[in-house]
Amino acid sequence: MSTKTEKIRMTTPLVEMDGDEMTRILWQMIKDELLLPYVDLKTEYYDLGLENRNATDDQVTVDSANATLKYGVAVKCATITPNGARMKEYDLKEMWKSPNGTIRAILDGTVFRAPILVKGIVPYVKNWTKPITIARHAYGDVYKNTEIKVPGAGRAELVFTGADGTEVRELIHDFDGAGIIQGIHNTLDSISSFARACFAYAVDTKQDLWFSTKDTISKKYDHTFKDVFQEIYDKEFKQKFEELGIEYFYTLIDDAVARVIRSEGGFIWACKNYDGDVMSDMVATAYGDLSMMTSVLVSPSGVYEYEAAHGTVQRHYYKHLKGEETSTNSIATIFAWTGALRKRGELDRNQELQDFADKLEQACIKTVEEGKMTKSLSLISTCENPVILNSLEFIRAIRTTLEGLLQ
Ligand code: NAP
Ligand code: MG
Repeated sequence: MSTKTEKIRMTTPLVEMDGDEMTRILWQMIKDELLLPYVDLKTEYYDLGLENRNATDDQVTVDSANATLKYGVAVKCATITPNGARMKEYDLKEMWKSPNGTIRAILDGTVFRAPILVKGIVPYVKNWTKPITIARHAYGDVYKNTEIKVPGAGRAELVFTGADGTEVRELIHDFDGAGIIQGIHNTLDSISSFARACFAYAVDTKQDLWFSTKDTISKKYDHTFKDVFQEIYDKEFKQKFEELGIEYFYTLIDDAVARVIRSEGGFIWACKNYDGDVMSDMVATAYGDLSMMTSVLVSPSGVYEYEAAHGTVQRHYYKHLKGEETSTNSIATIFAWTGALRKRGELDRNQELQDFADKLEQACIKTVEEGKMTKSLSLISTCENPVILNSLEFIRAIRTTLEGLLQ
């Protein structure tokens, strides 16, 4: 298959969510250079750029998430999460919420992040030869807490009042002097959705699933997470796991940390909200660079939304606006597209589309391994004489490699 012959046909559209700043520029280049010449691209397009979110009172974000539920697959460009500075810069009517938060709430999804491994970019942990995918529970715990600064002596209690008025009371602490208290919660619904998304993704990617909490200390709270996972595994996934020869493995978080460091990678590590927040930064850094991290939001019903883990690369965009050259790494955004195209291909039994996605990923990796890369990659690569390319040159170099692979 090459540009001269027929393009790959798609039967069902995927949802395309455009975004902001430098990644929006890369988005168009990727489509023009790497997708449209080869694929008869069918997408339902939603412009999640901040201007359009503001113009539609953020309705476009909600619509794009609902379309994702309908079609089952989406690809998303990085988007600005507004803050005070953005309010002025874009003259916003409101400080719109993070699109990722809105989409995640509608899809009830879990985010899985995995590094893209390339020879020449050596992880800090030398035995990590395969990717470690982190799944972070994205609801509750310390992120939805209630806190009190205790001013002085007094009693702190945990009180639950049932809908029928019955009360359950537990002593937290009898304070002699000043202190602090924190109340956190989670729901069985949210924990169950998280567990299902993790098991489904393990099946989908044929990788072992690890899960860890502090259940030995937190005998009700963390233990409930452990029990919910085990119950859902036994009832809904055990057989499938055994057929695929993959494993579900629960261990205490301390033990998990030690095992992860000693491992060669190649599994999914499911983490509670706080653990996932911290561990995903550690794992991303150890593998090299945020610009080489992919991210996929998976709903418990098996809907997928693919994106890059990094943001809109604002600093590069301002250079671009001034007419200066940029050397922004587009690999994670390309992998968002290949992830979505491959999933679309799987769902539609379109082998050609799946093969194209594989080849485009190979082309990215091969291009970097042959020494052609962007500036940020050259800084962490062991390649002796890297050729540093600008944003467009890099995408064109990937295209040249792809042409070779498609012969
Ligand atoms: P960022 O866009 O991830 O960029 C932070 C820095 O990391 C960049 O300035 C750049 O370093 C480097 N970098 C990130 N991706 C790169 C790439 N592909 N190629 C080369 N270098 C790359 O984070 P940010 O600057 O903190 O956030 C910018 C905007 O993105 C914010 O408005 C934020 O709300 C948004 N954001 C969106 C998402 C999302 O949609 N999922 C996620 C995070 C942030 P140098 O400048 O040193 O080259
Ligand atoms: Mg963090």
